Amino acid sequence: MATKQQTQSAGDPSCAPPLAASAEPVTPEVPWTGDPLEAPITIEGVPPVDELIATMRSYLPDVEQEIVRRAYAFAARSHDGQVRKSGEAYFGHPVDVAFLLTRLRLDSASICAGLLHDVVEDTTVSVDEIGRRFSREIAEIVDGVTKLDKIKFSSREQKQAENFRKMLVAMSKDIRVLLIKLADRLHNMRTLEHMKPDAQRRIAQETLEIYAPLANRLGVGWMKGQLEDLCFRHLHTDDFEKLNQEVGRRQSERQAYVAEVVDILRNIMTEEGLQHASVYGRPKHLYGIWRKMQQSKLPYDQIYDAQGFRILVDDVRECYQALGAIHTHFKPIPGRFKDYIALPKPNRYQSLHTSVIGPGAERIEVQIRTAQMHRQAEEGVAAHWKYKERGDSLKVRDEERFAWLKQLLEVHVGVKDTDEFLDSMKIDLFSDEVYTFTPRGDLKVLPRGSTPVDFAYAVHSAIGDHIVGARVDGHMVTLRHQLRNGAIVEILTRTDAHPSSDWLEFVVTARAKTRIRNYVHAEQRQRALEVGADLLEKAFRRVKYSIARAQAHERYGKMLAHFRIAVWEELVVAVGYGRVDATDVVANLLPDLTPEEHKEEPKPAKRPRKTDGGGPAITVSGFDDVMVRMGNCCAPVPGEPIVGVVTRGRGITVHRRGCHFVLDADPMRRLECEWNSESKTGTTVGVRVYSENETGLLAAMSAKFTEAGVSILSANCRVIDGHRALNDFEVVVHNLAQLQGILASLGRLRGVTRVERVRS
Ligand code: MN
Repeated sequence: MATKQQTQSAGDPSCAPPLAASAEPVTPEVPWTGDPLEAPITIEGVPPVDELIATMRSYLPDVEQEIVRRAYAFAARSHDGQVRKSGEAYFGHPVDVAFLLTRLRLDSASICAGLLHDVVEDTTVSVDEIGRRFSREIAEIVDGVTKLDKIKFSSREQKQAENFRKMLVAMSKDIRVLLIKLADRLHNMRTLEHMKPDAQRRIAQETLEIYAPLANRLGVGWMKGQLEDLCFRHLHTDDFEKLNQEVGRRQSERQAYVAEVVDILRNIMTEEGLQHASVYGRPKHLYGIWRKMQQSKLPYDQIYDAQGFRILVDDVRECYQALGAIHTHFKPIPGRFKDYIALPKPNRYQSLHTSVIGPGAERIEVQIRTAQMHRQAEEGVAAHWKYKERGDSLKVRDEERFAWLKQLLEVHVGVKDTDEFLDSMKIDLFSDEVYTFTPRGDLKVLPRGSTPVDFAYAVHSAIGDHIVGARVDGHMVTLRHQLRNGAIVEILTRTDAHPSSDWLEFVVTARAKTRIRNYVHAEQRQRALEVGADLLEKAFRRVKYSIARAQAHERYGKMLAHFRIAVWEELVVAVGYGRVDATDVVANLLPDLTPEEHKEEPKPAKRPRKTDGGGPAITVSGFDDVMVRMGNCCAPVPGEPIVGVVTRGRGITVHRRGCHFVLDADPMRRLECEWNSESKTGTTVGVRVYSENETGLLAAMSAKFTEAGVSILSANCRVIDGHRALNDFEVVVHNLAQLQGILASLGRLRGVTRVERVRS
């Protein structure tokens, strides 16, 4: 038997994996020669695989029974020895899930995945192994279900629930993953009484907020109804029991009445020539009745249309015909007629609803629909599976699956508000967003490309301001790490940590950008204040004056006006940023002092920022115009990595990145600087050349400088120990490449023994 099936499946490229098939030698005499893990198996209390296959065959004539048998046996052995909280064999759970999936008329791969859905989570079997033993398709579905299982929903907030549902949709690239997850949840809800009370509540709440609406969104009516009633039972146990008894009691009381109404409706249909219409009484699900009672604040016996009736006819025309007949016989209740055929619900539900004053002056609700609409209402997304005439795999391509879901969301137009609709569309399956979680399970929806810094700011600005690192799913990551869907992000903070302007390069959320910019700006303003106050104090002290006296001076207001500044603090900041010179402030306020006194100390010697062309040589992040001078200790050359240091009384000094001065400086005083590539400003650099004492060598050297476009400011050449020469040049270079070029070409001159850059 096994032989025949294997031959069959080998011919169909869509099923059994080549590895598993070839690993099993086939001998007609031996019933099973494959992997002992997959040998046929029966477990007490669990429906046998034959029953499952028979059920599948009812809608799937070409069921791939060989692979289903193997999945059944493999799952049975993998879960061997595990028991559920109820004491039953664990394996009963995946088998029941598989049966639920047959109600959705799912394909063989989905049924196998249903059987195997807890194998990866609960046993040592890996997704890869599932792939090798069964198929990649099955492995991917199992993997998807396992991933969804890992996400816990904790917040009760409505918005969060909606996001969570969208996330589930976005994360399951294959709609079958969602359906298996729903079946899994339904079965867990059915066996919930074996859990502890607080777990019962948590799971029921999550189901009511996430999974029941999801089943509704997918249009699977029976699942939604069952999930809701089970949640109702666990969340409002007293109300549930009371209502259940009441409905039961009245049901038996009213059986005669229901039978009478069904009879009358049938007669009406026959009179209309719709004798093929099927009519039946339909007890409403308890949660629906209870909700109606809550909303209307009425007791059960006053909820008249708790008893529903349903009429199934052949086509849309007959739906309206049946409606007309009912409205002719019974008085319709105004405002209760709903035409979901002309205006389907977002989940594609179609039906006519009406409430009428029925026999005995009781209000009854009647739903009229076609068999096709009924199938849509009960099966939703599953109503659209199309199986080929022969071959039983689900041949709906991914695009079609997505298109279907997209359409589902598109029906939102005109049904819900625009924001909600746009939101749904945006989420869809090709999401621009990532769904991430705090360690407590709170959902944070962030734009794609978001980093732990964005996440931290999304949680709280104080967390963003003090982030020093992050762990994603337990692993340390860099701050620029891009978060993925489902990531659980733990932010590490330190109270003395602060935002850095570097972060602006990689953060994507507006919130993070604004916060970082504000912080950096405030911080730099603070530095400017310190520097400016220092410079002004010195400038005034030089002329035996003080800031206090200056502020009391009669020209004080005029002086501020001269610099177009409103308040003293702004003047201090302007001086700190280098926009206003401290000596100019003194000169303006005290014009009677002799010019010599102002010029007592020359302005900083090298201020290469404003020369002939191209604006400042250096831009300091966050500033347009800052007073900058080069550090004498390392004389950085354009192109070299640099860093600025705020020096009291001297503004910002720029150093090479590795300079000891920077390393020694207080990190709080460091500033990010960049060379302005537009700038043509040169920098003075010292170059020392060791050479033979040869005539003509000095000329050759200066020729090299000229060739390279490097101008010489000074040259100091002297002979040491008779035959060797030491040549010190002060030259102006424009960038690092130019400097390296000239050092190299000097080094190649015959007679030159060594060339080095020195402090000027
Ligand atoms: Mn499960």
